[in-house]
Amino acid sequence: MGQPSLYVVATPIGNLADITLRALDVLKRVDVIAAEDTRVTVRLLGHYGIATKLMAMHEHNERHVAQRLIDLLANGKSVALVSDAGTPGISDPGAIAVALVREAGYPVVPIPGANAAISALSVSGNTARHFLFHGFLPQQQTARRRELAVLSNLQYPVVFYEAPHRVVETVEDMVGAYGAERTISVARELTKLFETVHVCALGDVAAWFAADANRTKGEFVLVVDGAGAPAMDMDMPRRTLEILLRELPLKQAVKLAAEMSGGKRNELYRMALEIKKVESGQA
Ligand code: SAM
Repeated sequence: MGQPSLYVVATPIGNLADITLRALDVLKRVDVIAAEDTRVTVRLLGHYGIATKLMAMHEHNERHVAQRLIDLLANGKSVALVSDAGTPGISDPGAIAVALVREAGYPVVPIPGANAAISALSVSGNTARHFLFHGFLPQQQTARRRELAVLSNLQYPVVFYEAPHRVVETVEDMVGAYGAERTISVARELTKLFETVHVCALGDVAAWFAADANRTKGEFVLVVDGAGAPAMDMDMPRRTLEILLRELPLKQAVKLAAEMSGGKRNELYRMALEIKKVESGQA
């Protein structure tokens, strides 16, 4: 495998076929795989006939296991890190081990693949150029509402992870923070048998859940639209120009009005000539 390295390997988020050829090759060839839950990973490895040794690494023993990984690397071994599903370190353990291994001087290599947030965003139809990945909200309602109130003013979509037993109360809190008009994309059970993507107004989502009890089962990603840019004041360039023309020569007024209003200089020039014409009574 070349230089002893830590490979951070993305695994499927449902459909076992969603794993890259490179990920399978790495999982086969490393000496040890540190896995969030070895029972989950053993199923994946079994499916692909991979017999690599596993080591449990979860939230509560990550530092300790990271030290064991560093010892293995020091002995010339290569190791991989996987979580139960998707990309390690994304709302999953992994980041601490990555930092400690790098600090110890060993290369950390990403093996990219499935991720629930990006999958949900890719089928949301959201045309925004930016987004915020927020992951899980607090479980406690007051803290959750506070966090949503802050997020609701952002102009770009926000991507949330949510557990099935909280999804209904979370979307209710979202209506409170964002209002009923905002669009939400509910991505449920992606890549699995009951995959569902439902896009609607936030005000309609509770009724959609209530219409079929199965709709609240499984794993969820919620993508909520951004607040949108403030409405453009179409008259602003003209009003700016009118004021500046009272005090300044035409060329200078046009230049400043373009800078202040963001309007196009040639259009403002034409407008300025028009204003002057009206003022002189020639129009
Ligand atoms: N590391 C993972 C990733 O890269 O997406 C995320 C792990 S996080 C502990 C698990 C959460 O991701 C779930 O509660 C759910 O919100 C979301 N998730 C994972 N798999 C999903 C799927 N197949 N469909 C929808 N959401 C999913």
